[in-house]
Amino acid sequence: MNCDNCVAHVPFTLFPSPIPSRLYQHCIDIQPIISTLMLRIANDSAFIEESLKSVVEVDDFTKNLLNINRIVQKEGLAQPVISCINRSDYMLDQYSEDGKDQIRIRQVEVNAIASGMAAHSCNTKLMHNYLMEKYRIKPEKGTKLLDNQSIELVAQGLIDAFNAYNKPDGYILFITEERCFNFADQLALEFEVQKTRPDIRIIRRSFISLPYIVKLGPNKELFADLDKEIAVIYFRYCYDPSNYSYNTAWDIRLLLERSRAIKCPSINFHLSGAKKFQQVLNNQEQLERFLSSSDAEKLTNVFCKFWSLEAGSPGGNEGYNIGTSSPENLVLKPQREGGGHNIFGEDIKAFLNNLNRPEDRSQYILMEYINSPKEKNWLLMQDDDCSKDNTRLNSNDLLVSELGIFGSVLAEGLDIMCNRTSGYLMRSKKYGNKEGGVAAGYAGLSSIVLVDDARNDIDLSLFFEK
Ligand code: ADP
Ligand code: MG
Repeated sequence: MNCDNCVAHVPFTLFPSPIPSRLYQHCIDIQPIISTLMLRIANDSAFIEESLKSVVEVDDFTKNLLNINRIVQKEGLAQPVISCINRSDYMLDQYSEDGKDQIRIRQVEVNAIASGMAAHSCNTKLMHNYLMEKYRIKPEKGTKLLDNQSIELVAQGLIDAFNAYNKPDGYILFITEERCFNFADQLALEFEVQKTRPDIRIIRRSFISLPYIVKLGPNKELFADLDKEIAVIYFRYCYDPSNYSYNTAWDIRLLLERSRAIKCPSINFHLSGAKKFQQVLNNQEQLERFLSSSDAEKLTNVFCKFWSLEAGSPGGNEGYNIGTSSPENLVLKPQREGGGHNIFGEDIKAFLNNLNRPEDRSQYILMEYINSPKEKNWLLMQDDDCSKDNTRLNSNDLLVSELGIFGSVLAEGLDIMCNRTSGYLMRSKKYGNKEGGVAAGYAGLSSIVLVDDARNDIDLSLFFEK
């Protein structure tokens, strides 16, 4: 939006989006396993080093993160308790079996840092309730609108971390961008913490202001504004190279990681969300390094196929050959977050052919494309104007949705103190748009209508276009 002092609404859908209930339930069931897996990756520095070795040779951003992890692990952690509020994202995948169309669910990625939209997500659910009641729209028989506790989950994750620091007059520090268009989602979270714990004080500071206001105390306490001892640092920023644009940005991230404050996420948790781990841990055998075989199987049930692109390795050569010969059903991804970085389908060929050196390939992974069914709904973007385009009232949009499940884990080393799951984020984008993400400007927020897939009297074409 081209306006310095404007407030814009988050894009949203008019109605909830459908998910077959057994698929939703599977995502809920595996969330604690995903949080445990991330914790075990975070604690295994040798595995992190080995997996990211070829990535960091060509990707300075990941290298800087890894360097900080090396430094703090070598020095010994000033704060052994680590926290991660994460969100695992999924899309429905339509495929054919025995000549019949089937729907399954596939994991897109796990977000280990700045997993946002928990507050807006709950509000979207309330808005859908309101609209349906106001216009007397009854959910179809065999379907159920799903309550959402995402904001409670995220707030509780911060409270858990605050309690573990054990300093009642400490503060939670939200680290944000300087001009934060997503302030309302963050502020609502602050209010939610305060609803149950009015004693906890929260401050929000932009990352760029930190060089002037933070310092370490004699026992590595983190102080902000001279004398506010920070119990918990909550990163809502610092996930993209562009976030480190000022001279001392990486020194400040190191200072934060060196401090006694509990970081949400700590640098090793942040690293555990790298997309490279999805590719490295893509099969049962690799996963069993960290998980029991039954837990590993539950995860592989929702995994897409992945390929490395590393030059000189057998798997990487195979990935390169597939990427340059038949990329129609693939996505190429760098080690980045926040939307807008992926290359889809036919564009992958030219992208790979235009890389300067074979070693540049190592920073990317290839992923199978998820073929989501088209849903009928309306998506209202910020610049929609029904008075100018009245066809919007008569014909629905065709959308595809992405489900996120929130998890929060707090641990000392490998000992888990809390591992919580609840709440969701549902986002919908126009069918045909490859990229997703609300903040990135591609998708709008939705809520969930569970479709009881054990019953066969529900006409799914009410929701999905055949
Ligand atoms: P980011 O960390 O930038 O959010 P994602 O892996 O979530 O990266 O990809 C961004 C968007 O691209 C997703 O929200 C989704 O809409 C789309 N996308 C990613 N992977 C796939 C895939 N395998 N198949 C189909 N769409 C995908
Ligand atoms: Mg994403």
